[in-house]
Amino acid sequence: MGSLGGVLDVAVIGAGFAGMHMLDQLRRHGFDCHAYESAPGVGGTWYWNRYPGARCDVESLDYSYLHDRELYEAWAWSSRFASQPEILRYAEHFAERQDLLPHITFGTTVLGATFADGSWTLGTDTGEQVRARFVVTAVGCMSAVNTPPIPGLEQFGGTLLRTARWPTEPVELTGRRVGVIGTGSSGVQLVPELAREAAELVVFQRTPNFSVPARNRPLTEAERVAAVTEYERKVVHASTTRFGHPVTGTGRAALATEPAERAAEFDKGWERGGTHIVATFTDTGRDPTANAVLAEYFRDRIRETVHDEQLARALTPIGYPIGTKRLCVDDGYYETFNHSHVELVDLRHDPIEEVTETGIRTRSGDYELDVLVLATGFDAFTGSLTRLGLTDRAGKALADRWQDGPRSYLGLAVAGFPNLFTLTGPGSTMVLSNVMRAIEHHVEWVRELLLHARSHGITEVEALESAENDWVARVAELAGRTLYPHTDSYYLGANIEGKARVFAPFAGGLDAYRRICDDVAAQGYRGFRTA
Ligand code: NAP
Repeated sequence: MGSLGGVLDVAVIGAGFAGMHMLDQLRRHGFDCHAYESAPGVGGTWYWNRYPGARCDVESLDYSYLHDRELYEAWAWSSRFASQPEILRYAEHFAERQDLLPHITFGTTVLGATFADGSWTLGTDTGEQVRARFVVTAVGCMSAVNTPPIPGLEQFGGTLLRTARWPTEPVELTGRRVGVIGTGSSGVQLVPELAREAAELVVFQRTPNFSVPARNRPLTEAERVAAVTEYERKVVHASTTRFGHPVTGTGRAALATEPAERAAEFDKGWERGGTHIVATFTDTGRDPTANAVLAEYFRDRIRETVHDEQLARALTPIGYPIGTKRLCVDDGYYETFNHSHVELVDLRHDPIEEVTETGIRTRSGDYELDVLVLATGFDAFTGSLTRLGLTDRAGKALADRWQDGPRSYLGLAVAGFPNLFTLTGPGSTMVLSNVMRAIEHHVEWVRELLLHARSHGITEVEALESAENDWVARVAELAGRTLYPHTDSYYLGANIEGKARVFAPFAGGLDAYRRICDDVAAQGYRGFRTA
């Protein structure tokens, strides 16, 4: 393929880890390609989410590209869980090392995309029109910011901040009265950091979350050396494990284990830190009784940490299985509430009536604030795609086609949208696996498909509606075997008003998912129409 009358072979939308890897692979294979990115720099979600305390909950040595051994060996992470600035530096390093920057247009948002006569035309907010035979979206599954319709938000006269669009300049918080709405992964990381600086901190909590200490620490030289010698094993794990990296558990069922031994195993997980604790036993993800045992262990830790009994009760998650909302990973979250300048407002009993010019009015009273932070999450999985303004062959918008929930084949393609591939799209494993491993798989799979198309003179590739129907049913069936559908969460779209409640990720594990994709490719891209 090559540039034909100003038509690119491939346009990539997004320059986070997925978009950069895609662009690099396409360039290495001689495709005429270019990427478009809204932000002024690379990094995707790691560009925008620069709030204090932002850190990955996957261990750094696993949250690294594996496809390039030299890159893997040369990059030395400083700590067990890398901070946002370090992850962003890693993204920038990759872009420079692979000479990607001249091939990315920054500060440009794709707002419309139509397919006609064998190519896509993308419209951007800068007025540019881009034509490309293929389009690969790399827009992330957590990037469309959710600003909830809280009455009066627009009249707040203080500083309004969003964790997912944190300013690049330092924010002065010392001595100020700060409010935070939202206690998901972002809020839980942010709260202890804000408490260090703010004169008063008010945390507005709608649903308490389960959170485990990260126990972050610097990586030792021995660990870095071991990671290098384990490189080959990591590559194997990418395709042979459920998450794309091994998670160590006992391999036994909680309900078949004596309570004392169970508690001892949970203690080990709690002391180790990070999300591994949820994999201690094999049945806590699917058996409600086993799940309740793990949930109670977490609740005990909260009661143990938070001195004030009433406050501990308000912070304690009840009424939904642990793990069905994403487990948070924190650094001193519960401890923060022992400080006298930190207050929790339990919105279940004292809901927000409105944001005023000077703060927040709840049913019980007024909270005066200088700074208000929205840690209210994302229109997950679908929002970043539907906001692109993609329309199908018949001119119907993706947003309309997905009104009753996302539909895709393998999470990578959508019927009616030829020559379009959606990296980490709904229907793929997304955040149920190490997203770095999912990204590398998707990019390499799409690259192979495009190479196949090039070598076979194929100009159109489109998912069949029948294959899409089967995939949607399979995703739903796998979700039905888990406890996820029992809880209102962003996994189901329940955090966005009016959004269809459909469990979007493929819950069968990255290993099974990869086997299916390999099989599809081996059978001449079964489920795709090619012409
Ligand atoms: P989130 O998990 O969706 O949390 C949003 C929070 O805002 C929830 O507590 C939610 O309450 C609350 N909220 C939303 N609308 C509200 C309203 N109208 N009034 C009051 N409260 C409201 O979003 P997030 O914390 O940004 O995390 C999203 C995902 O990004 C994570 O699950 C994770 O996958 C990723 N992430 C990862 C890390 C990490 O690696 N450590 C860090 C940050 C984010 P409800 O629960 O009641 O809806």
